Amino acid sequence: MRDDNCIFCKIASGEIPSNTIFEDEDFRIILDAAPATKGHALIIPKEHYKDLYEIDENVAAKAFGLAKKMITPMTEALGADGFNVLQNNKEVAGQTVFHFHMHLIPRYEGKDKILTWGHEEFSDEEMKKICESLKQ
Ligand code: AMP
Ligand code: ZN
Repeated sequence: MRDDNCIFCKIASGEIPSNTIFEDEDFRIILDAAPATKGHALIIPKEHYKDLYEIDENVAAKAFGLAKKMITPMTEALGADGFNVLQNNKEVAGQTVFHFHMHLIPRYEGKDKILTWGHEEFSDEEMKKICESLKQ
C-alpha cells in the first residue's frame, strides 16, 4: 500500500533521499529535517498507514520494538541523557504528515524543556465517570 501523494511514502521507498540511520524490509528511520534536538529521528513504516488508528497492529508493535532497539546506541552516539518517544495522531494532536511515524527525540541535561503541558482538574466524581466510560 502506497499513497502517491505522500512524502513519507516517497522517503520510505528511497525515491526521495533522506538522512537514513536504519533500514530494513519494513521500515526506514531518518533524521527529522526540522529537529527538536540533535539526533531527532523518525521511524517510518514503508507501507502507508495514516496514523495509529489505521496501522496494522503487528507493524505498530514492530515500530515500538525498533524504538527500543535504537535508543541505547543513539544515546551513546549522541551523548544524550534520555529520550522522548512520541507519536501524533490527527491534526488536533499535532500531526502534520499523515503517514504514521514515531518520533525519537534525544534529550540533553540542561537544555530547555521542549515537551510541556498544563493540567486540567476533575472532581473525584468526574474522574469516576471518565474511568467508567473508558473501561474495556
Ligand atoms: P508530526 O507533526 O508528528 O506529523 O511530525 C512530522 C515531522 O516530520 C516533523 O517533525 C517534520 O519536521 C518532519 N518532516 C516533514 N517533512 C520532512 C522531510 N521531508 N524529511 C524529514 N523530516 C520531515
Ligand atoms: Zn505514505
